[in-house]
Amino acid sequence: MTGTTPGLRLPEADARVLARREDIIAALRAIVPGEGVIAHEREMRPYESDGLTAYRQLPLVVVLPSTTEQVAAVLKYCHDNEIRVVPRGSGTSLSGGALPLQDAVLLGMGKFNRVLDIDTANRAAVVQPGVTNLGISKAVDHLGFYYAPDPSSQIACSIGGNVGENSGGVHCLKYGLTTNNVLGVEMVLITGEVVRLGGKHLDAGGLDLLSVIIGSEGLLGVVTEVTVRLLKKPDTARAVLVGFPTSEDAGECVARIIGGGIIPAAIEMMDRDAIAAAEAFVNVGYPLDVEALLIVELDGPEAECAHLLEEVTRIAEGCNSVTLRVSTSEQERLGFWAGRKAAFPAVGRLSPDYLCMDGTIPRRQLPYVLSRMRELSEQYGLRVANVFHAGDGNLHPLILYDANAPGELDAAENFGADILRLCVEVGGVLTGEHGVGVEKRDLMPTMFNEVDLAQQLRLKCAFDDKSLLNPGKVFPTLHRCAEMGRMHVSGGALPFPDLPRF
Ligand SMILES: Cc1cc2nc3c(=O)[nH]c(=O)nc-3n(C[C@H](O)[C@H](O)[C@H](O)COP(=O)(O)OP(=O)(O)OC[C@H]3O[C@@H](n4cnc5c(N)ncnc54)[C@H](O)[C@@H]3O)c2cc1C
Repeated sequence: MTGTTPGLRLPEADARVLARREDIIAALRAIVPGEGVIAHEREMRPYESDGLTAYRQLPLVVVLPSTTEQVAAVLKYCHDNEIRVVPRGSGTSLSGGALPLQDAVLLGMGKFNRVLDIDTANRAAVVQPGVTNLGISKAVDHLGFYYAPDPSSQIACSIGGNVGENSGGVHCLKYGLTTNNVLGVEMVLITGEVVRLGGKHLDAGGLDLLSVIIGSEGLLGVVTEVTVRLLKKPDTARAVLVGFPTSEDAGECVARIIGGGIIPAAIEMMDRDAIAAAEAFVNVGYPLDVEALLIVELDGPEAECAHLLEEVTRIAEGCNSVTLRVSTSEQERLGFWAGRKAAFPAVGRLSPDYLCMDGTIPRRQLPYVLSRMRELSEQYGLRVANVFHAGDGNLHPLILYDANAPGELDAAENFGADILRLCVEVGGVLTGEHGVGVEKRDLMPTMFNEVDLAQQLRLKCAFDDKSLLNPGKVFPTLHRCAEMGRMHVSGGALPFPDLPRF
């Protein structure tokens, strides 16, 4: 196992590849000429990490192709020469999905930054994978359209990365995640073959491979083009800030709104620490004397919004709300969201470091999970601030720690793992939108048994027979594909004990 970050276990680097580094760089320069290959250590530093900054590793070399043909030639070369490849968009993954490997080519897709086609008649746009999430909405704004999934990182993250992680955002409660808003992709397989899945048309014949690709974390192929669904901007959007004396009251309010048949465009929750941090950051008038704050957004025709606002107000009052403020202008509505969207960097002011967790639970379990988290916080001696997509039951506990204090990173990671185990225990899942990456890789067996994992690996092997694409991510065990055909589990005994597990 290697890795420049202590405690991080990555697949053992292939010494034969490391020994051939200069030849490999020369071959890649022949495919991607000019400044498309970065091999100097100082210039590779910006790529050594992604949004999970606790982990760092310099790649073998960084390659920045700008055409599908170049991607295909790079992948074919890597396949023929058994060289690993880590695809990268903007590098904002919070689960270490784009973390490099010492013996792998880091394939940066940043130069694929063009909007290729805007087709409002088909409510679709075709974009290259390096276009930012917000860039899509900006490109169609003048036509009255937008792209719905809106991660807080939307100013920086790429649509290719969104496909990789099946990213979500505050408006996914009503409009769905990436998987519900991507209509098609062009993708290059590790062999260099270019395939197209889906497109502007509704549904395709055969197996739904597009849904396999979305959320596949760079393990199945490299996406070189994305067709997204465009939505017409709603006539009206109003946001309400509702403060509660307890998180339990806020959780109950969420359950009653949704149970009452209302699907708001968004329902977000922040706890006291997160509210204070966000308010200090953006100054939009969040109430500071409440334990929990909900931001509920309603959109649609004006009359419908007005009616739903009354309903939400009535429900909130029945759940002991202590403050309620409705946005009266577009500027005020955006202000309400500015605090929520800046919550992660804002919490960064409370502590030198934090770990952002991401798990999903059935909404009804919210009060129990929040109270267990408070107990765990005391047990580990670490503070936790909570910001989450309450409507979706998608939690983002931010565990505050100081990486320079001995043992705190370990404690924060153990605390995070306990939270994710808790999510699974109450009927939820390990991730809501940030992916598994290296962060949750070792927790996969808490959710999947050996048979489940073996089936998932078989799917991986169908796309990537030599396990060259993003190895060390998602799967807790590195298998050779040849072995998958005869994988069997007997009496719970772990198969292939000789193979590295990390
Ligand atoms: C401050 C902050 C806030 C965030 N808020 C949210 C949020 O609200 N919701 C949310 O869902 N996420 C959020 N994230 C996480 C992150 O922004 C998303 O996961 C995003 O989709 C990653 O996009 P990226 O372009 O940075 O991809 P990267 O981090 O570069 O890569 C992510 C994964 O996708 C793969 N990949 C990238 N491009 C391609 C490609 N072209 N082909 C195949 N695989 C590829 C990579 O191998 C990797 O596994 C946040 C991150 C930060 C730092």
